Amino acid sequence: MKRVFLETYGCQMNVADCELMAGVLERAGMELVQRPDDADAVILNTCAIREHAEQRVLGRLGEFAHLKLRNPALIVGVAGCMAQHLRKRLLDQKRVLDLVVGPDGYRNLPDLLRRAASVPVAELRLDRDETYGDLEPRRGAGVRAWVTVQRGCDKFCTYCVVPYTRGRERSLPIAELLGQVERAAAQGFREIVFLGQTVNSYHDGAHDFADLLRAADRVAGVLRIRFTSPHPSDMSERVVAAIAECEKVMPHVHLPLQSASDPVLERMQRSYTLAGYDAVLGRIRERVPGVAVSTDIIVGFPGESEADFLATRDYMRGARFDSAFLFKYSARPDTRSFKMPETVDEPEKGRRLQALIDQQHQISGEIHDGWIGREVQVLVDGPSSRGRGDAQAQLHGKSREFKTVVWADDGARPGTLRRVKVVGATPVTLLGDSAEAPHEAQLVTIGDRAG
Ligand code: SAM
Ligand code: SF4
Repeated sequence: MKRVFLETYGCQMNVADCELMAGVLERAGMELVQRPDDADAVILNTCAIREHAEQRVLGRLGEFAHLKLRNPALIVGVAGCMAQHLRKRLLDQKRVLDLVVGPDGYRNLPDLLRRAASVPVAELRLDRDETYGDLEPRRGAGVRAWVTVQRGCDKFCTYCVVPYTRGRERSLPIAELLGQVERAAAQGFREIVFLGQTVNSYHDGAHDFADLLRAADRVAGVLRIRFTSPHPSDMSERVVAAIAECEKVMPHVHLPLQSASDPVLERMQRSYTLAGYDAVLGRIRERVPGVAVSTDIIVGFPGESEADFLATRDYMRGARFDSAFLFKYSARPDTRSFKMPETVDEPEKGRRLQALIDQQHQISGEIHDGWIGREVQVLVDGPSSRGRGDAQAQLHGKSREFKTVVWADDGARPGTLRRVKVVGATPVTLLGDSAEAPHEAQLVTIGDRAG
């Protein structure tokens, strides 16, 4: 059992977990392959946050069932949130599935895979102490390194499976995290993204999230620092001050709101009121001039009336978020809201969602139009997929505010900083003009990726 195919679904934390698994497997002498047909074992790293995510994984498992018909020795595994959440159902289907492993079982993955070659294996214990702090991930290509600073969640929002699938909140020691940041910088990664379900509640017993940001800000070779997702209730003065004062911490905050109706927020158990959220947003905007703010919204939560929905729509119109992830409420087994009667039917959820999409599209478009004529500093990611195959090749990267910028290929290398003049915009992209961009002298080259 040598060759493993890993595929990941869901949030950035799952991508980071996949890198962790890849590191564990490679250290055990296993090889990661790009195609399931070349593999002795396939592992799907899954997401249980919404039913739709689960359906996609189940569909993919169906494809692997076909593969297994052709190659009965193939080991099929499911890792991550869905493994934990659907454990009974997955084990019922054990003719297809040989291994289920929850988010705290990755340390022993090579051994679990070997055992699964002879008997179906389930490793689903949640471990309050497991942080994987000592395990080095095998980071993917690119200029951005994801660093998980905290695992699990203690907030228990009533709609959310995360505390059940990923267990209780625990933070990694700051020394281990700074070691990871330094090694990532030495490998050539230029942007660090700190990950946690409520990343700003990070606390290792002696240091809080503000300490972590300030310490990471001093690491040589790192050009930019980002983090996701902070929780509004954990946005302390210290954290806001660190965001404002650290040169490398970028002016973009993803601040999930979920709803702008207090009764809905209360039933969601979000632990803040709209006024509380608004005060946090105001403080961030005051202390971090030019900050871009994005958010998450759920429509159709049980009991959400038309008035509740309109309150959310109107607040979003006034708050003018740069972007928003908009979701239809999905009832998840095990959560507390699962027992609340659903009062908003699917078509109505769809209508509310579409109204918010349309409004946000317009606002994002207006905000982006406001960037036309200005210069942005971009961290170059590489060739843009839009440019590939066209006569005119294009590059893409992120501005300090985490806006995607696309411009004609001017030879700028991935991992370098580039000043680009914005000459056009769509609601999702800023279009740059390399002809108007400054010359080579202003191209900041930091060095090549080692190894
Ligand atoms: N921990 C982060 C927070 O509290 O903001 C986000 C975690 S979750 C992976 C990302 C987003 O998914 C949430 O902010 C929420 O908007 C959405 N979400 C979570 N559970 C959901 C559900 N049952 N139905 C619809 N959307 C959901
Ligand atoms: Fe889920 Fe709430 Fe925790 Fe976010 S804070 S992961 S929404 S329980």
